[in-house]
Amino acid sequence: MKKYSSLKEIQTLISQKQLTLPDLLAYYFKQIKNNEHLNAFNEVFFLSAEVQAKAVQQKIENGTAGKLAGMVIGIKDNICYEGHIVTASSKMLEGFVSPYSSTVVQRLLQEDAVIIGRLNCDEFAMGGSNETSYFGPAKNAANPELVPGGSSGGSAVAVQADMCLAALGTDTGGSVRQPAAFCGQIGLKPTYGRISRYGVIAYASSFDQVGPITSSVEDAALLLQVLAGADDYDYDSTVSLFTVPDYPVLLNEQKKHKIAVLKETIESEALDPEIKSAILKSIEQLKADGHTVTYVSFDLLDYLVPAYYILTTAEASSNLSRYDGVHYGHRNMEAKSLNELYKLSRAEGFGEEVKRRILLGTFVLSAGYYDAYYQKAQQVRRLIREKMDVLFQDYDLILSPVAPTAAFKIGDHLQDALVMYMADIFTVLPSLSGNPAIALPIGNNEAGLPLSIQFTAKHFEEDKLLAFSQAFLS
Ligand code: GLN
Repeated sequence: MKKYSSLKEIQTLISQKQLTLPDLLAYYFKQIKNNEHLNAFNEVFFLSAEVQAKAVQQKIENGTAGKLAGMVIGIKDNICYEGHIVTASSKMLEGFVSPYSSTVVQRLLQEDAVIIGRLNCDEFAMGGSNETSYFGPAKNAANPELVPGGSSGGSAVAVQADMCLAALGTDTGGSVRQPAAFCGQIGLKPTYGRISRYGVIAYASSFDQVGPITSSVEDAALLLQVLAGADDYDYDSTVSLFTVPDYPVLLNEQKKHKIAVLKETIESEALDPEIKSAILKSIEQLKADGHTVTYVSFDLLDYLVPAYYILTTAEASSNLSRYDGVHYGHRNMEAKSLNELYKLSRAEGFGEEVKRRILLGTFVLSAGYYDAYYQKAQQVRRLIREKMDVLFQDYDLILSPVAPTAAFKIGDHLQDALVMYMADIFTVLPSLSGNPAIALPIGNNEAGLPLSIQFTAKHFEEDKLLAFSQAFLS
C-alpha cells in the first residue's frame, strides 16, 4: 500500500503542517533503502534532492511555490539533468555527466518538483523487461522473481513500491504503458509531439515520447499539463505548437463515449485468459456506465510488430552512430587506428540487444534492401495511421489489452528476442500512429499480479482520455 496516493493529499498535509517536504523526502529515502533489492534506482540524488526539498518547503511557507510543490519524482535514466549522471543504463555512458537539462526536467524544476533520482531501464530504452540494463534488471515489487516490464521498469517499480510519488518514463513502443501495467500503475503515452524531446536520449526519434507513471489519474493530468507544449529550443522540431489544455480541470468533464474494441486483439491466441476475462468484465462495466461499446475489425494487427521493429531499429542505428568513442561515452584505450577505436569502443560499450538492433537497422537501410524493408514499413505505417484515423471518425476511444500476459519471470524471454518483440503487439499500435494511449489497472490475477487495459484516443485528445480514465477507475 502506498502511503501517499496523490499530490493533492501531500499538499493538503503540508499546508496543514502535518508534514514537511524534507520529512517526506526522508520517508522516500527510507523506502528506497528498504527496497534496494528491487534495483529500481541507478542513482539516488541525495544531495540535490535535499537542497531542493528545503528550498521548496521555504517557498511553500512563503506562498510562492509552483504547481508541483510536494511532488517527489524519479526520472528514467535517459533523461538529461544538468550536473547529474545520465547513462541510458548502458556501459557506453557510464559516468557521463549531462551538461544541460532536458525540457521536461526544466519544467519539473520550474514548478518545484523534487527530483529524487534516476531510474533503471533497458539499455537505451530497448527492451520490454528491463533485463537489457547494464546495471542488472529491476524487479517487480509484486514478486521480485518477475520482471517489472520495460523499458521504463525502474520508473514503474519506484512508483509501485512507494519509493517516490511519480516517475517519468519514455515510451517508444510501449515502455511507459507496459511496465505500468506489470506494476499495477497508470502509464500515459502522450500524442507524439505533445512533449518536447529536448534532452531525452534518442532511441527512435519518430516514436519517442516522455510519459508519466503515477498511481492517480490526477497526477498524470497535472504532470502532462506541466510537461506538454513547445519550448524555446530548436532541437525538437516535432514538438507541437498546439495550446496545452488544462488537463486537471478537464478531468471533471464526464461524457458518454463511443468505444471501439479491436476484435483481433481480444481474440488473439496470445492473450492470457485471465487478462481476457478481466477486460471482458471491464467492457460490461463500461456498457453499464452508459458508454457504447462496439467490436470492430483491425486487419493490420500482424503487420504492427514487423513495421515497428524495422522502423525503430533503422532510426536507432542512425541515432546511436554518435557513440563512437570520440565524441563522448566509453572509449577503448588500446586502439591503434581511428577505425579500430570506433570498432572496439562500440563493441565494448554496447550490450547484446543494442548491437542486435544496430545491425538490424543498418541492414534494413542498406542499399538493395531499403525498398524492401524500410520503405515498405514506412508505407505500412501510413496505412496504419489512416486506418486509425478512419476508426476515430466513428469512435472516441479504442480499447485493447496492454500486454498479452502479466509480468513474467526474469530470464524467461531472454533467449528469444522474437518472443520478447511479439509481446509488444498491442502497445506499438498507438506508437506507430502517434495517438495518445493510457494503461489502466484492472485488478490482479489469481497469482496476485496486476492486470491492465489500454485506451487510445484521437491525436491531442489527452483531455478526453484522462477524464475518461478518471471515471473508469473511480
Ligand atoms: N519493447 C519495445 C522495444 O523494445 C518498446 C521500447 C520502448 O518503448 N522504449 O522497442
